[in-house]
Amino acid sequence: MEQFEKLGFSREVLSVLKTAGFEKPTEIQEKAIPLALAGKDIIGGSFTGSGKTLVFASPIIENLNQKNYVQALVLTPTRELAEQVADSIRNFSKKNLKILAVYGGVDIEAQIRKLHNTEIVIGTPGRILDHLKRRTLSLDKIKILVLDECDRMFDMGFYRDVEMIIQQCPKKRQTMLFSATISSDIDYFAQKYTDDAVEVSVNSYVDASKLKQVYYDVPDSLKFSLLVHLLKKENAGLVMVFCNTRRNVDFIVENLNNAGISAKAIHGGLNQSRRIRVLEDFHDNKVGVLVCTDVAARGLDIKGVTRIYNYDLPKDSKDYIHRIGRTARAGEEGEAINILASRDYENFGKIMNNKSLLITPKEMPLIEQIKINIGFGKRRDLGRGRRTGNDNRFGIKRNQRSQKRSSWKKRIGERKLGRNDSQKRYSDRNNRRTNRFGSRGYSNRNNNRSNFRRR
Ligand code: AMP
Repeated sequence: MEQFEKLGFSREVLSVLKTAGFEKPTEIQEKAIPLALAGKDIIGGSFTGSGKTLVFASPIIENLNQKNYVQALVLTPTRELAEQVADSIRNFSKKNLKILAVYGGVDIEAQIRKLHNTEIVIGTPGRILDHLKRRTLSLDKIKILVLDECDRMFDMGFYRDVEMIIQQCPKKRQTMLFSATISSDIDYFAQKYTDDAVEVSVNSYVDASKLKQVYYDVPDSLKFSLLVHLLKKENAGLVMVFCNTRRNVDFIVENLNNAGISAKAIHGGLNQSRRIRVLEDFHDNKVGVLVCTDVAARGLDIKGVTRIYNYDLPKDSKDYIHRIGRTARAGEEGEAINILASRDYENFGKIMNNKSLLITPKEMPLIEQIKINIGFGKRRDLGRGRRTGNDNRFGIKRNQRSQKRSSWKKRIGERKLGRNDSQKRYSDRNNRRTNRFGSRGYSNRNNNRSNFRRR
């Protein structure tokens, strides 16, 4: 608590933090809260799970009072994050500020009724803009503007919407922008809409001592079977499984349930009340495995996630970092497990280009092959239909697969290895620090040999 006191919190807020079990500030909190409380504009490089909500909440809960008009606006990329941020600010504040989460997909009339005397609005850009156009929301008296998960907001196509919203805010305000990655676009945007901002970044994406990252390189036909094997073997705690598409999410959920594993889906194709119900079930431990897409899982604060699985590898290290941020949160331990088949090589190569990520190979265990019901999830590319003699179950012709593999090898600057070369390389790698993905993470010299021999 002493460290929180030094950051400048009032006694009321300190007692809330104590009740919440916060013992000491996280890195971003330590660096940015004094600036935020002093009314400074901030450009924060930090990921979900870093404790950034308390940073931007601090001037809201300390410096704003009940006034019956909107004084602070927090923009978030997703509905779930809007709800979550609203809950956090409600919990942190002792002043009975009226706080409202505003997002699409739900009745707008109910929002309009509440908006006229709300003090803090947390919303997604589309619905906020909708209210502005209807004149059911006024930003004239905004004192604090927060852009949360800015990179994701822009990835989702909200750049112009966010600009239009900012243009309706007064020029004199405090602006705080948070983003897991600060690209040149975000930097340009931040410079344009902040005033004399202080840039604050945390040193690491994740606490490497708490989060273990591994990958299995599996034959295409055993990808799902390995997932089932690992889920059954280590059936402790809450687990998230990531897929790249809604269809894959549905397919995996159905097949996991079929294999006796209690799993539920969360993706953008489900309506809001269904998504909330699934999350509640997950929170209440009624289901152990949540299978999701990136957008749906973005920013969700689910406590106690012990492992995340990448069943489909995300397209770049930015999405990868967001996914692994679901586990090993707030000082807890976690594991990120990547299950690679041939279709993931290209994405994995891109992820490994980020040298700050340390992902070590793990030996493929002996597993039982699980029968997949190819009718689930209405997919064609996961094992049903359209297969010709030369195709595998992903619909990729064999020569295309080897082309794919050699293309990412080339891309990451490795020469194409023959089988013998490959084995020799692995047996001779005591002194080597890089593997074929450009990873610095070699640890177990026996691990890979068995995997690569199999091909
Ligand atoms: P955030 O990155 O703000 O979404 O926070 C992620 C999670 O960490 C939330 O569940 C917070 O309640 C929790 N948290 C934030 N700050 C601290 C802290 N200083 N100590 C312990 N837990 C924290």
